[in-house]
Amino acid sequence: MSENISILGLGLMGTALAESLLAAGHQVTVWNRTPAKAEALAAKGAKQAATPEEAVAASPFVIVCLLDYPSVLATLDGIPLDGRIIANLTTGRPKEARETAAWVAERGGEYLAGGIMAVPQMIAQPGALILYSGSKTAFDRYEGALAAMAQPRFTGTDPGMAPLLDLAMLTGMYGQIAGFLEAAALARSAGFPLAEFESSLLTPWMVAMAGQQSGWAEKIDSGDHSTEVSNLEINRSGLENIVRAFREQNVKPDLLLPLKAIVDQRTARGLGHEGLSGLAEELA
Ligand code: NDP
Repeated sequence: MSENISILGLGLMGTALAESLLAAGHQVTVWNRTPAKAEALAAKGAKQAATPEEAVAASPFVIVCLLDYPSVLATLDGIPLDGRIIANLTTGRPKEARETAAWVAERGGEYLAGGIMAVPQMIAQPGALILYSGSKTAFDRYEGALAAMAQPRFTGTDPGMAPLLDLAMLTGMYGQIAGFLEAAALARSAGFPLAEFESSLLTPWMVAMAGQQSGWAEKIDSGDHSTEVSNLEINRSGLENIVRAFREQNVKPDLLLPLKAIVDQRTARGLGHEGLSGLAEELA
């Protein structure tokens, strides 16, 4: 079914979103602070709005994808939102999303917060995911259109949920990046070819180890951190060894040190017999 959809924000991501909706046959109205970025989309059939107000007036469903939440509020300020669903796919914090949902409701609109788990090149491709939270009615009404951009996943009626899960997933990614950078620095310090280390050793190892984390959620939820894999004491000793090796190779272990500190803290409490999942208790 073809929908009328407006998009505010034609940066790299907003442009990819607009293109995917146009390609799926929707009637798309676009607005961007710098109007030139709308020209290519206009050539593909999008209507170009001169102001954000005009764009909001053009469609009942309005997707916003700007730099940050302050730019979203500044852009929507003073615009009547009666009968409008605002799907804000701008990355933000849970608190900002809850406040913005209330702000939109005060102006007569419904709110969906989004968290885009994709880079622009992945939009409309398999593997792209967008998390949503807030108005379930709005999600259900537009789920079909949302699916043109990426797999849509509703995560709850708390508007803060999608941004929170977005940040949680990014946190996992940054942990991976930290591990990758430290591992690469150590391999390089001994002159091992980095491309070979990455493709034939590190990446397959990281993928295999990611699979080992299944079951952790149950342990953390239950508080039963018993293990038959490797206990904290072994990991404490392993991290000690790694950090010493880094220093002997003149490489900084700085990204590993916070993890080592928390392992040391937990074992110092006499909990070295537990598995690594027990570290979650130190973060609560
Ligand atoms: P860009 O930097 O490419 O685009 C930023 C957009 O915000 C532009 O449309 C820009 O307008 C607009 N903008 C900035 N400040 C203001 C303002 N004060 N008032 C009005 N408009 C403003 O960023 P992306 O498109 O990559 O990212 C947009 C959102 O998508 C961000 O929240 C980002 O975190 C999120 N996202 C991006 C991903 C990515 O890989 N790119 C991945 C997942 C989420 P102008 O053109 O006039 O400068």
